[in-house]
Amino acid sequence: MRPQILYPVFASIESLPGIGAKTATLVERLAGPKVVDLLWHLPASIVDRRFMPRLVDAPAGRIATLTVRVEAHMPSPNRRTPYRVRCTDGTGSIDLVFFHARADWLNAALPVGATRVVSGRIEEFHGALQMPHPDHIVPPERLNEVAVVEPVYPMTAGLAPKTLWKAISAALDLAPDLPEWQDAAWLKRRGWPSWREALLSAHSPSSEAELEAHVPARLRLAYDELLANQLALDLIRRANRRLPGRALRGDGRLRRRASAALPFSLTPSQQSALAEIDADMASETRMLRLLQGDVGSGKTVVGLMAMLTAVEAGAQAALLAPTEILARQHYETIGPLAEAAGVRLGLLTGRDKGKARARLLESLAAGEIDIAVGTHALIQEDVVFKDLAMAVIDEQHRFGVHQRLQLTAKGRAVDVLVMTATPIPRTLQLMAYGDMDASRLTDKPPGRKPVDTRAVSADRLSEVIDAVERRLRDGAKIYWVCPLVEESESVDLAAATERYNVLRKRFGERVGLVHGKLKTAEKDAVMEAFADGGVDILVATTVIEVGVNVPAATVMVIEHAERFGLAQLHQLRGRIGRGDAASTCLLLYSPPLGETAKARLKTIRETDDGFVIAEEDLRLRGAGEVLGTRQSGLPTFRLADLSEHGELLAVARDDARLVLDSDPELATERGRALRILLYLFERDTAVRYLRSG
Ligand code: ADP
Ligand code: MG
Repeated sequence: MRPQILYPVFASIESLPGIGAKTATLVERLAGPKVVDLLWHLPASIVDRRFMPRLVDAPAGRIATLTVRVEAHMPSPNRRTPYRVRCTDGTGSIDLVFFHARADWLNAALPVGATRVVSGRIEEFHGALQMPHPDHIVPPERLNEVAVVEPVYPMTAGLAPKTLWKAISAALDLAPDLPEWQDAAWLKRRGWPSWREALLSAHSPSSEAELEAHVPARLRLAYDELLANQLALDLIRRANRRLPGRALRGDGRLRRRASAALPFSLTPSQQSALAEIDADMASETRMLRLLQGDVGSGKTVVGLMAMLTAVEAGAQAALLAPTEILARQHYETIGPLAEAAGVRLGLLTGRDKGKARARLLESLAAGEIDIAVGTHALIQEDVVFKDLAMAVIDEQHRFGVHQRLQLTAKGRAVDVLVMTATPIPRTLQLMAYGDMDASRLTDKPPGRKPVDTRAVSADRLSEVIDAVERRLRDGAKIYWVCPLVEESESVDLAAATERYNVLRKRFGERVGLVHGKLKTAEKDAVMEAFADGGVDILVATTVIEVGVNVPAATVMVIEHAERFGLAQLHQLRGRIGRGDAASTCLLLYSPPLGETAKARLKTIRETDDGFVIAEEDLRLRGAGEVLGTRQSGLPTFRLADLSEHGELLAVARDDARLVLDSDPELATERGRALRILLYLFERDTAVRYLRSG
């Protein structure tokens, strides 16, 4: 239950003065639905209105606050000419200029003969001073309110700055003094203010310098957020460890048979990952382990071996894949090995309906299926296992923590192995998973040749097509990727279809097209024809992005490569170079290239080390986007910026660990304050993991 002291800041923004339903929609889009969201909405710049020159000295181009007397109104003779209000201060004169102005409003705000304080940007026009649309017009007694440094907030169209500013001021008034949750000695050493002081100070910068990420107020707020994040993750991890686990020990009989059916032996890092997984599974605590490895590093077989252990121990296992194609591919690669081992395999995707689905669910519930491979369809409520003990989740970044929990809720003390193909930099791993146990596949299966990667201007398309023709003659299979422009699926499709038609004219039946709008069956048919049928050129939107394996594919053309992110390019390229033959990747780009696009293409040409690419991606794009956190349900930060505050994350991790080691129930004075911190950053779920939560 949220502590009472936080009720005011968790009220809806509509409860703030001056925010009606219409404004609320805009503010919500900008910051969020609650008062606390406005507290986190920090200014991005400032306007300094403290400059108060006499008109005779007033320079054009600067923002100034003037005290003037209204001399005369000069209404506009037509719609194109502005309304002018001439003012003076005895040393000179200036025209206040208004386009599309309402005369009655101007006469009320600026009556002739009255003294007014106006603030805005001074301009020069035909040798005279003017101020178009002053930001403030107030009576002289309110000079002190105007001649200040004003925070400027990130805005959204349709919302007036003044309205937002008023709402934020009101939100700040509601911010209570909260008990200190930070360690006193640490605060003192860093010279950080209290939470409320930090908040007020971050919202009232008096100079540009105070907007920087490294001023005490901003550091304090960022650290609060990071600490809440790490504390929450650590709480969940500890709670997970406390849960009754079950020791899953295999006797190796199924694994031995599956291994004998493998056409290769495991690489050293596959073996060591497997040893770590075995140890976790054999222990009485629950496994929650991350298996990181580049595309093509061979995670699937590791996942399979782990699942076989569960089956050897007499239980069931599940493999959750993010897409239909991937689920089917897993099902097909695992199929022969499972058969060799005498393990019963089931496939459940969104495509299975009616009787077939009902039959499958029955055998799953009866324990007649040992390993279930599937998509989200596996998480549906009516899917019941007889005894699920182990879950492998592929391409974790596509799934939220929530979905993971939904799956594990179907079993008893389920051990979880999370496989991710996007190597995550250490900082991001900490942020997303906390101190989760991780195994890394660092070596690639033997025989892989690096992919020869080149950037080619799109002007040279016809040369590229000629080159493709030569490679086709040598028996190559070719991916031709057309980009996804998120704004419009139909436009993407049009581009891919157009390319398909061009290539089809040239190469006939050997060209296939696959995209997201195809029905699953159609998609699979094309993919299959490409994997081992008559299709040699596969024109595709990014539906081929994840996991799909066609070892004979040795050429990839990526159109508008400049539009893809680094991680995406790396994933795409990972589809080729999987067989014995040398592979080529052609990155077609449309000049001129921006700086970031240039840096991306350079990186992807120079390295195929997923970890290096991940670090570079983080640098170029920032943390949120790298993880795709919004989509994946992983946490996003409001105040902390990992490119600025990254080093604080490790401190927060240690801090969280120390706190929970000595005060696991957050029952001490600081512990109770930390509970408030968790609620403040909406880590309510984590608090529930406290036994007395
Ligand atoms: P990813 O890590 O991207 O999921 P996969 O599990 O799909 O990679 O493996 C990619 C390819 O490498 C598959 O064709 C798989 O059979 C093969 N492979 C996996 N491990 C080895 C190995 N130890 N030696 C040779 N080939 C391997
Ligand atoms: Mg995979």
